[in-house]
Amino acid sequence: MNPFSYTRAVDPASAVEQVRHDRAAKFLAGGTNLIDLVKSGVEQPAHLVDINRLPLTQIEELPNGGLRIDALVSNTDVASNSLVRKRYPMISEAILSGATPQLRNMATTGGNLMQRTRCYYFADTTMPCNKREPGSGCAAIEGYNRIHAILGASDKCIATHPSDMCVTLMALDAIVRTDGPLGERSIPFGEFHLLPGDTPERETVMQHGELITAIDIPLLPFARNSHYLKLRDRTSYAFALVSVAAALEIKDGAITQARVVMGGVAHKPWHASEAEQVLVGAPANVATFRQAAEEALTEARPQRYNAFKIELAKRAIVRALSTVAGIEGDNA
Ligand SMILES: Cc1cc2nc3c(=O)[nH]c(=O)nc-3n(C[C@H](O)[C@H](O)[C@H](O)COP(=O)(O)OP(=O)(O)OC[C@H]3O[C@@H](n4cnc5c(N)ncnc54)[C@H](O)[C@@H]3O)c2cc1C
Ligand code: SF4
Repeated sequence: MNPFSYTRAVDPASAVEQVRHDRAAKFLAGGTNLIDLVKSGVEQPAHLVDINRLPLTQIEELPNGGLRIDALVSNTDVASNSLVRKRYPMISEAILSGATPQLRNMATTGGNLMQRTRCYYFADTTMPCNKREPGSGCAAIEGYNRIHAILGASDKCIATHPSDMCVTLMALDAIVRTDGPLGERSIPFGEFHLLPGDTPERETVMQHGELITAIDIPLLPFARNSHYLKLRDRTSYAFALVSVAAALEIKDGAITQARVVMGGVAHKPWHASEAEQVLVGAPANVATFRQAAEEALTEARPQRYNAFKIELAKRAIVRALSTVAGIEGDNA
């Protein structure tokens, strides 16, 4: 048993103050990830600052037509919000494909971004893990690495980011709003999570004591025509082996705008910009989607047990784009 103290913050500034000066302090939101990790000894905070009473619980329209989702809005409330469902259906699909209703009721928007990897060796304190204990080694590289990364990995860590929602936020060019030791910041979603490199223990650009206050999603009219496809070992209560967030604007049969982001393949949501380059200007058909999928995976490097992810990811891209384009059946 690791003793820890607990306090409840009443406003964002006091929450930041309580954590920033204490390296062993952490914010506690829904607790669906952090408490599990504390119980298993992976995380050992000496002080938990409960942020659940902070006034960060709204979803509101922005003057520029976008949407602001406060950090403490539950995953359930985001998924069921009528504006989210209408303007950014892929977000709702992504959230509803994850966890369980009970977990989604507790899990928060900010916590979803900060959740830790599901690498089994990270969760097992008897195994070496550079992310949990820098310099100790990586048990997954020579171990059973079926769920691990095929893109952007390093010789220090091959873990993937587990979030579904984050894959769609990357596709939508979301902005993460924070408050902390560096003052208020607006961080483009693509820069928020990091690749492992030599420092896999550092997963985001967040400073210690920095609080996520909201996510801004810009107006992106073609995002109404979007889809999130998640492939996993069972159809409920499982993390993605591969997932795809896709959006298309199609005019007169040709693609004018495209978004393709993959989940389950890297340490962060993977923006397949090469695939988008193939798509824009091309006819919206399966042949184009296959070419885009090939392009998206050219840099993929499998581990011993996960080469299947490369073909799975290609097929997932074709299927997700076909769904968005309204192409069904054997053609997809
Ligand atoms: C059994 C199970 C199945 C799951 N399945 C899925 C799934 O299929 N797909 C998926 O995407 N997710 C899944 N999840 C993960 C779930 O979505 C996350 O646990 C949840 O989103 C975390 O949110 P939370 O509010 O509970 O965070 P907490 O557990 O409270 O916190 C997580 C981390 O975020 C930090 N934090 C929280 N809020 C803030 C903030 N505002 N600013 C800065 N730091 C903050 C905390 O300090 C902590 O380090 C699953 C979880 C479980 C337990
Ligand atoms: S892949 Fe990363 S998280 Fe998993 S054991 Fe290796 S260092 Fe740890």
